[in-house]
Amino acid sequence: MFKALVVEKDDEGKTSASVKDIGLDDLPEGEVTVAVEYSTVNYKDGLCIGPGGGLVRSYPHVPGIDFAGTVEESSDDRYKAGDKVVLTGWRVGEAHWGGYAQKARVKADWLVPLPDGLDTRQAMAVGTAGFTAMLAVMALEDHGLSPDKGEVLVTGAAGGVGSVATAILANLGYEVAGVTGRPETESYLKDLGAARIVAREEINETVKRPLETETWAGCVDAVGGSMLARVLGQLKYGASVSAVGLAGGAGLPATVVPFLLRGVNLLGIDSVMQPYDNRVRAWKRIASDLPMDKLEAMVQPATLADLPQLGADILKGQVKGRVVVDVNV
Ligand code: NDP
Repeated sequence: MFKALVVEKDDEGKTSASVKDIGLDDLPEGEVTVAVEYSTVNYKDGLCIGPGGGLVRSYPHVPGIDFAGTVEESSDDRYKAGDKVVLTGWRVGEAHWGGYAQKARVKADWLVPLPDGLDTRQAMAVGTAGFTAMLAVMALEDHGLSPDKGEVLVTGAAGGVGSVATAILANLGYEVAGVTGRPETESYLKDLGAARIVAREEINETVKRPLETETWAGCVDAVGGSMLARVLGQLKYGASVSAVGLAGGAGLPATVVPFLLRGVNLLGIDSVMQPYDNRVRAWKRIASDLPMDKLEAMVQPATLADLPQLGADILKGQVKGRVVVDVNV
């Protein structure tokens, strides 16, 4: 038997999450069984620990959209017992049981070998949020961003995606401006490398003019909604924004004018179905471009028992940086 955070649904449709003992036979089918070491807490985890947000297919359910650990058993040639692996995406923790357990069974296709230079704890300090931040930075670079082009904006900067994006961009030599609604995180963001802080209310109003002063050479946007609309009108000529998240809303109250008159690009970033080769490329870049001391400064440790509270906190935008869940404590 081993421990897992199990979410159950009662006859009235109400969900509740608690740590339970489950067995190997309870795990779903898959080619690879992994002894999970660490997982983390993402916005989607908040939904899946709670009422589900339409993501969870059936109950009882084990959430946890990402994990890192050691292969225990594998019927697939690509992995053998003892290999260190990391998993993000593929709807694990939503449609499939996930990483909030001491063991997980998954498809070999969903795994990535742990990159050189990272241990399993660091991989989950990065997690889906950090992996996606790296994808967002790579997309901006692929569309011509370089440090000499000017200031780069990161929205939702004190959150998981924003914190990692800030640290990576600053380490690559970019001048980073971080948008936050939590002024008390200013010194945290400056320690990660942000050169200046932009108050959320300054940039969160519905766009009034389709074009404003050309300000940003690029943007990693974790917020969406009216903030993304506003950023589009403030991008420099030909610049791009990587749209990662919807912490501020799924709508986009924008005009097409910035696309037509300034040739700006709106780049969609999806981490869930990202092809294998690009996953490996992103994890390699994380190992080389994210300073590990900055990563450590973002981490708050947690256990399986802390997850119901943390799930509720992240839905309210109250988690700072990255939570690392040691599932074996
Ligand atoms: P976090 O909750 O850690 O960070 C989100 C941040 O957004 C908050 O910390 C806060 O930053 C800011 N924020 C929250 N609410 C609002 C609001 N109403 N208006 C403006 N800003 C707000 O989440 P993550 O960083 O893990 O994820 C960020 C987003 O990215 C989520 O929407 C998530 O679903 C999405 N995501 C998408 C992925 C993909 O594949 N595309 C993968 C991973 C995440 P601050 O306090 O600094 O203002």
